[in-house]
Amino acid sequence: MTRSCSALGCTARDTGRSRERGISFHQFPVDAAQRREWIRAVNRVDPRSRRAWRPGPGAILCSRHFAEGDFECYGLRRKLRRGAVPSRFLPSVSKWHSSCTQAPISFPMSH
Ligand SMILES: [Zn+2]
Repeated sequence: MTRSCSALGCTARDTGRSRERGISFHQFPVDAAQRREWIRAVNRVDPRSRRAWRPGPGAILCSRHFAEGDFECYGLRRKLRRGAVPSRFLPSVSKWHSSCTQAPISFPMSH
């Protein structure tokens, strides 16, 4: 099953195509305190319980919700910095922009 980004209104799906476009996907942190920060940032409500939504196992956020400085680069791979909290394109923080597409990141051709 294809996983998709847990942010409200975000349609990014974890596919090879998304990754080619420079979108990376990141699981919710295991660390309880940081996980809470993410949940707060995502600001979703469970429609059934009307309580704060909780990420299930394998819940992910796409890289569009993180600032450029939240990433560390290892060659072609991007990794979130420790303590990074999503801050972009989330309902509580900023209005959803109509131009929410991220400029594609060009990867060097592999030989
Ligand atoms: Zn997303």
